[in-house]
Amino acid sequence: MREREREIVVPDQLGEGLIHVPAGEQLFLDVRLESVHEGILATVSVETTAHGECGRCLEAIQRPVELEFHELFPYDRQEADEYGVQDDSVDLESPLRDAVVLALPFQPVCRPDCPGLDPVTGEKRQDGAAEESLGEVDPRWAALTAFTASTDSGTGDAPNAG
Ligand SMILES: [Zn+2]
Repeated sequence: MREREREIVVPDQLGEGLIHVPAGEQLFLDVRLESVHEGILATVSVETTAHGECGRCLEAIQRPVELEFHELFPYDRQEADEYGVQDDSVDLESPLRDAVVLALPFQPVCRPDCPGLDPVTGEKRQDGAAEESLGEVDPRWAALTAFTASTDSGTGDAPNAG
């Protein structure tokens, strides 16, 4: 088993969405390579910083990104597009890019209760306006809203019926 720690500078931007890891950002890698029956199993921990803007108020934000992924590089490559062991080495770049992009938040916000922009004025809303915006929550996400509210209060009681 081999372990390596690497610090690299991101050569090109990772991710295309509201938030991404820009070229030039530092990326810390902790790579463990194990020889298994089928090939080489890489376990990679990644730490970096994503930059972007809040999906609600468009304020510039930065987010720490931490993730771990596993990739098996088979000795015996079956498919042309599968990663494999070549000349006793493995190329982590593609799986690394995929893993980082998948770990980026889909809808980044500057803070969980960001009230967003006023639809009329386009200005950033004041904090008190946040409750009104709850009505805009997509019903598919409503369960998550309830979950957040109950963890905040920590009481486990049903939300106030108002
Ligand atoms: Zn915001």
